This record gives sequence, structure tokens and C-alpha cells, in this order.
Amino acid sequence: MKRKELITKYLTFFKSKQHVIIPSASLIPENDPTVLFTTAGMHPLVPYLLGQNHPSGKRLVNVQPCIRTADIENVGDDIHLTFFEMLGNWSLGDYWKKEAIEMSFEFLTKYLNFDKDKLHVTVFAGDDQVPKDDESANIWLNLGIPKERIYFLGREENWWGPAGKTGPCGPCTEMFIDTGKEKCSEDCKPGCGCGKYFEIWNDVFMEYNKKADGTYEPLKQRNVDTGMGVERTIAMLQGKKSIYDTEVFLPIIEKIKEIAKKSIFTEGEKKSSRVIADHLKAAVFILSENIEPSNIERGYVLRRLIRKAIRHAKLLGIEKNFTSEIAEKVIEIYKESYKELDINKNFIMEHLEKEENRFRKTLEKGLKKFQLIVKESKDNIISGKDAFLLFQSYGFPLEMTMELAEENNLEVDEEGFYSEYSKHQELSRKATVGIFKSGLADNSEKTTRLHTATHLLHAALRMVLGEHVQQRGSNITPERLRFDFSHNKKLTEEELKKIEELVNKKISEGLEVKCEEMSIEEAKRQGALAFFTSKYGDRVSVYSIGDFSKEVCAGPHVKNTKEIGRFKIIKEEGVAAGVRRIKAILE
Ligand code: ATP
Ligand code: MG
Repeated sequence: MKRKELITKYLTFFKSKQHVIIPSASLIPENDPTVLFTTAGMHPLVPYLLGQNHPSGKRLVNVQPCIRTADIENVGDDIHLTFFEMLGNWSLGDYWKKEAIEMSFEFLTKYLNFDKDKLHVTVFAGDDQVPKDDESANIWLNLGIPKERIYFLGREENWWGPAGKTGPCGPCTEMFIDTGKEKCSEDCKPGCGCGKYFEIWNDVFMEYNKKADGTYEPLKQRNVDTGMGVERTIAMLQGKKSIYDTEVFLPIIEKIKEIAKKSIFTEGEKKSSRVIADHLKAAVFILSENIEPSNIERGYVLRRLIRKAIRHAKLLGIEKNFTSEIAEKVIEIYKESYKELDINKNFIMEHLEKEENRFRKTLEKGLKKFQLIVKESKDNIISGKDAFLLFQSYGFPLEMTMELAEENNLEVDEEGFYSEYSKHQELSRKATVGIFKSGLADNSEKTTRLHTATHLLHAALRMVLGEHVQQRGSNITPERLRFDFSHNKKLTEEELKKIEELVNKKISEGLEVKCEEMSIEEAKRQGALAFFTSKYGDRVSVYSIGDFSKEVCAGPHVKNTKEIGRFKIIKEEGVAAGVRRIKAILE
């Protein structure tokens, strides 16, 4: 089944269940200054979910184009895009869990003809504040989903909201299709990042109001909010392993192959082609809203997408302008559904050309300069000054420099970049971060705390699981840390608890965090853990936390572990054979 047929079927099905079809909202949120783009079908409906009367009634359905910048890094895997379409149906204080789940089930099995035996679902496991969602689990059981295929998961997976600090929120139930791929480990299950289970649909049940004191009370108007990804669902309907193998990508990928004059891609090239296809598609849609590339907010996201696509095109050997040829394909695929693509075609093409010309002038030189910077870098760090130079003189968005740095096993001094920028613009550093990240609070202190917590976690993992544990990757956002490490079994509840407790014990001991400079040989001799062994310069910084942890690292770190706060593991999963991932937050 193709995209158009799926969309028509969905709208028709819910119309037959008394839902009113409402038009898709703009990709640019109209009344919400806190976000740059519409990220889900429910987004434009927030006022109605909060109790305002919707002019079309209590049952609504639509298809909504979405942009999720938070997923940019994941693009290239089989399931994540920055631009995608979401189908959704809503009950505003009308039907509840039973009807919602039964309708989802009926649509999946009778209208899309998914094999019931390939359907796996997750429901909320409950915690000390909110009970387990047995109601949803029982509805699935009654529909014939055996209990082996109903999984109880925690907040990270099966809880939505509130959007701010207080307000409506609740558990959700997610629907997955088993792709038939091998399990990545014995405990591989829906929610695992390896790709065996493809999440296609999510039913959210807003039944609680979170109060300012952190407690939950039952909500007067209970809502249902569902979201089904069009690209993922058609991939599953067509028996494809990835969203890129469907008709909303194949013509774009074929065009990229043609322009690159390659009949097959290596793995790396395949990933580049996916990045190009996704990013330029998103760029075309953003441009169709009359947004131009710039250095702030939406324009900056647009610029990043276009420039990243051009850099990846270079990796495929594409040296001349090509973005407008790709845009042609994108417009062909979607113009029937989104008229503004055709109406604004000239604007889209003109700005793509302009941005590509501008960036191609400096890209080659910038990459050479980057190589020089790498050669001269100290302690595996690209300084804020250098990152700013790449930005200012060569047009490299900070995120591009960070991506290049990562490919070279280096890190970028982000803080330094922002202060350098503000020096030049007579802005405060905080305002600068705001311009790039668009209104998000200054979170650098948070990331610093998470950084030190990561070291404690690393040491605790080795203590509890054994010395075979080695860091395989780390990623920190202001909200959470993510740590990948070598270990070939799922961690037990007990092990996770031990690790969490050990980290919190070290935090409460108020250990001093010390930084020393030394040669890499000396660092090794002292038993410091090091990650990118081959790429270190002669002299390195070694951070030690009491006598609990010692690691070669670029920082930044807190001065004393007391500053960290309470450490909490929110997720543990497999990401590849022999590699586990932990996500944790600070409370
Ligand atoms: P995931 O955990 O896989 O990132 P999610 O839990 O963030 O998904 P929801 O926020 O529940 O997803 O969104 C509802 C549906 O939208 C998902 O079930 C999926 O089909 C689709 N979807 C979400 N994010 C993406 C994305 N980045 N690319 C493509 N489809 C997506
Ligand atoms: Mg997601």
C-alpha cells in the first residue's frame, strides 16, 4: 500500500467512526513561541486538549507534516527523519481507552491487513506516583494479543507530558511491527534501538493533571491523542526494512545516485545519501513556508540542513550544484498534497541555489582549514575560537564542525564558541545560545553536571559489571546523558540499582574533581581510562574524582560531586551486538 492510499484509508476509517477531518496546520506553529516547528499532530491542538471547545467537535482526525530537529542526529538509521507526516485521531473528552485501542486494532488488522501475530504493544509499567496501566493491557488481551507480546515499560517510553511543568499528561500504548530481523540480544524487545521492532503508532491517554507540587490528580476532561507515522507504516506495509526504501524516498535516492554517478553505495555512502534525501526534503518544506536561510532560529535550522546535505554530497563526490534537482523530486512527490510547494517553487529553488553557491565558495577551503585545526589541536579539543573562525569565515554551522570533529574523534568547545560569537556581536553569551537554540534556557551548567555524572557512571559500571566495560560512545544534552559501553548481556534490575546507588553514593560523598595535565604515557601509567586512544595529542588533561574515577577527558566538569544532584537511570537497552546503552538524568 502506498502513501496516498494509507492517508485516504485512515481519514475515511475515522470519518466512518464519527471523526471530523480537519486540515493540516502549518509547519510553523502559530501561537506557540516556545518551539520552532510543529513536531506532532497534537501540537496545534494543545488549547483544545486543555479544555477549549474545538469548532469541529470532540472527534477529530488529520494528517500533519512535522519537523523534529531533535531527531537530526538519528537520521540515516532505518526509522528517523527530520520531516515526516503523522496521521492522528483525537477524542476531546469523548471516547476513552477501550474505543481508542479497539479502533487502532481494527484499522491495523482489518484495513491495513497487518498480521495480528506480528503486532507487539507496550503499556505503562507504573511507578511510585502513577499506577500501572492495566486497563490498556487488558483491552489488548481481550483483542487477542497474548501477554508475551504486551510489554510494560517505564516513563521514558510510555508516558507523555505534561508539555510544561504542570498540566495534562498520561500513559501511552505504542504499537510495533516485528520486522522478522534477528534479536540483538536475548532481551531485545519493543523500545530497543536495534530496529527489530518498528514503532508505527502511539495512543496517548491524557488522564492526569500534574500539579505544581509534583503530584497527579485525575483530569476532568480525559483526552485521547494518537500519532501514526506515515513513512514507517508504509515501509512495514510494503515489507521494506527502512523508510528510505519507500516511494517517498526512492526517486530522491535514485536521483542522488545518478548525480553522483554511482550504481551502488558503500555503507557510509548509503548513510550520506539518506542524510541528503531527508535534509533536503525538510529544507524544501521549510522554504515553502517562506523562510530563508539565516543565522537565527528557523533560518538557522534551514541553513544547517542544507549545508549538511551539501557536505554529505561532497562525500559522494558531488562537486557541482545539485540541491535544486533534488528539490524537483521532492516537489513532484508531494505537490498534490501540499499546494504551497508548487506555488512557492520559484522561492524554494532560488534560495537553494543561493545558499548552495554561497556555501560552495568556502566549503573546500573550510575543510582544508579544518584539517589544519585538527593537526594543531591540543587535548583533542577544537577551541571555541577555531569553531568560530570556521563559522565566520567558512560558513560552517557549529553543528557541522561538531560532526566533523566527532568523525575525527575530537570535541568542540561549544561554550567557547558561544562566547566568541557574543564578543563579535556585542551580545551576551546567553543571548547567543538563545539565537542558535532558539529561546531555550542556558543549560550549560546542566550539561557540565551530566558530564561529571558520566564519569561516575563509567567507573560504577566497571565496578559492578567488571573491567571489560569500555566506553563506546557518549552523548549529552541538557536533558540527559547517554552512554554506550561494551557488555554482552542485558543488565538486571539489581545491577542497575547497584550502579545507580553507587553513583549517588559518590555524589553524596562530595568528592573533589581534579584536573591535571600530563603526557598520554603518564596518564596510561596511572591507569586513567581513555576513549579515543589513537587520536590523543602528546599532552592530555586527566580528570580524577576522588580516587573513584580517573579519565582522560576534555571537560568541562564540576568542582565537587555534590554539585551534581540526584542521578537516575531511566533506560537500558541494546544498540548493537555486545554494546549496551544507558540513558540517565539528574533530578
Ligand atoms: P521513537 O521513539 O521511535 O523516536 P517517538 O516515541 O518519538 O518514536 P511519537 O512521538 O510517539 O514517536 O510519534 C508518533 C509516531 O510518529 C511514531 O509512532 C512514529 O510512527 C512517528 N515518528 C516519530 N518520530 C519520527 C521520526 N523522527 N521519523 C519518522 N517517524 C517518526
Ligand atoms: Mg522520538
